[in-house]
Amino acid sequence: MRPYGGLVTSQHSNKTHRENGRALVVFSGGQDSTTCLYWAKERYEHVLALTFSYGQRHSIEIESARRIAEMAGVRHEVLDLGAIFSGLSSLTDSSQAIPEAENASSNQGLPSTFVPGRNILFLSLAASRAYSYDCDTVVIGVSQEDYAGYPDCREEFVKLMEQTVQAGLDRPIKIESPLLHLSKKQTVELAVDIPGCLEALSHSTTCYNGAVPPCGKCNSCQLRAKGFDQAGVTDPLLERFGASTHAR
Ligand SMILES: [Zn+2]
Repeated sequence: MRPYGGLVTSQHSNKTHRENGRALVVFSGGQDSTTCLYWAKERYEHVLALTFSYGQRHSIEIESARRIAEMAGVRHEVLDLGAIFSGLSSLTDSSQAIPEAENASSNQGLPSTFVPGRNILFLSLAASRAYSYDCDTVVIGVSQEDYAGYPDCREEFVKLMEQTVQAGLDRPIKIESPLLHLSKKQTVELAVDIPGCLEALSHSTTCYNGAVPPCGKCNSCQLRAKGFDQAGVTDPLLERFGASTHAR
């Protein structure tokens, strides 16, 4: 018996668009991973969500993740990594200020919000958890469009991590990154087409400052606002707080 879930895939299921597999979604509780979670629910018979707690200053993300996983009706695991990235990024070091969007780049050309090694570690651990839950796929919401050049959000990185994972395990585990080539606008358009996804996004946390309602000034808030603006969709998160226009 498989260790997770009680659902049995029926040979007579009319869900022919599904891949009938088991997917584990790396799930932060943000906009992109929420969209990935609902994307996965459309495609796989069994979906699990895995959230990492790593001392991120905006721990409200984890509460968002819990709530959205409950809304989505998926099993949710929170893995505590302690202070493993402490001091490496403005996202994990409360003594560093979160830059506003126009000042987002550091001297090295990467924003101070870059967490070195984060996706390397996350995908390694996700593959291990996927293995133990008998999943054949790991889903991660990285995108190389619209982003500030994080090297671990590029297609080359995802492909190499998939090769590494497959070389290190005795079972092929795929890494799917459905948002990889999507702009924020296209990610919003994708979310609109998936039942329940927009409602879930009203509880997602994107703001680097962890502000509720979102600060509207950090790079992450501005990217999110730009995506919703360009897609012509009102952000359900702002709508939940009664804002008729995007925070700026
Ligand atoms: Zn913000």
